[in-house]
Amino acid sequence: MAEKYLGESIKNLGFGLMRLPMKGDEIDMEQTKRMVDAFMAKGFTYFDTAYVYIGGKSEVALKEAVVDRYPRDSFQCATKLPLWDLKDPGEMEKIFQESLDRAGLEYYDFYLLHALSAEREKQADELGAWDFMKKLKAEGRAKHIGFSFHDTAEALEHILQNHPEMEFVQLQINYVDWESESVQSRKCYEVARKYNKSVIIMEPVRGGSLAIMPPQVQEVFKKAEPEMSVASWAIRYAASLDGLITVLSGMSTEEQLNDNVSYMENFQPLNEAERATVQQVVDILNSLPTIPCTACKYCVDGCPQKINIPGIFKTMNDLTLYNNVEGAKRSYENVTKEGGKAGDCVQCGACEAHCPQKIQIIETLKKAAQTFA
Ligand code: SF4
Ligand code: SF4
Repeated sequence: MAEKYLGESIKNLGFGLMRLPMKGDEIDMEQTKRMVDAFMAKGFTYFDTAYVYIGGKSEVALKEAVVDRYPRDSFQCATKLPLWDLKDPGEMEKIFQESLDRAGLEYYDFYLLHALSAEREKQADELGAWDFMKKLKAEGRAKHIGFSFHDTAEALEHILQNHPEMEFVQLQINYVDWESESVQSRKCYEVARKYNKSVIIMEPVRGGSLAIMPPQVQEVFKKAEPEMSVASWAIRYAASLDGLITVLSGMSTEEQLNDNVSYMENFQPLNEAERATVQQVVDILNSLPTIPCTACKYCVDGCPQKINIPGIFKTMNDLTLYNNVEGAKRSYENVTKEGGKAGDCVQCGACEAHCPQKIQIIETLKKAAQTFA
């Protein structure tokens, strides 16, 4: 029977390959393979990578852990085309072919323009990226085409009006950002559905921060359902929406994977009482002044001072949430060991343009410098 919408038959948990377990600078392939096996054994089939993830090693890990070990029709995989450094339209074909070669594939099931915004829509126009995507689809080298997105709902609507050929959108959706004015999860989701686009959800656990919660939040969740992990609420919240291809979780350990598959194997959407519990948690979190960093690292490469911006922001957030001053000092030393300190920022602004969360990185680093002086 034909699918009612693209991706309807895919289970609502996808394996994000951006935070794989590492051994030094290399991906821990043995652990990754065990995770893939446990995932596939429970009927999950969707893998998400990108040309830039882990410096290109993520696509190679897809080959070694999935493509070389499972029949091609038993899984779907997605990767993404980064436009931000491209000058010449010919580079798009080169990058796409490299993504195929790294993963040992003849086609990707889902191919995405990576991290579109109003500004990158213009870049996509200049490069002819829309026609390039259509060509890949016509050739069968990309079965479905779409884009991941970080900007306002208005900017999303503009793209969808101009590009009906895009079949799906990948959006950042989680219960903290649902009503956020900077991320606009709800508004973006509603625009996507208005245009009948299927949705892939990214960052349901907000870069892991909705798995590690302050004690007063953990207590609310544990009281409601003692056996369920804190992360499970975030994934189930996202997966309860309609019209999804899948919900991506960037899994880094076997423990995380086993937990995720345990409740997503026979997924049940959140009921009314569970929704009320999530709202209670949102109210608590909104009262705490944390930095909305998802650790995507898009800001890091261009920093002339080699400042580990997401590492510093995580340390600041941990301090806000747990008030562990000694732990935060140690963590700050650790994350600034190999690069610049917060106070080394020269305010060049190279990072802020890349931040999908629109964080005022320079100002926030000033605060961090004062905190850890
Ligand atoms: S503004 Fe500061 S943190 Fe941002 S790229 Fe420049 S030096 Fe790095
Ligand atoms: S500061 Fe922004 S760009 Fe940098 S890691 Fe955090 S969310 Fe990503």
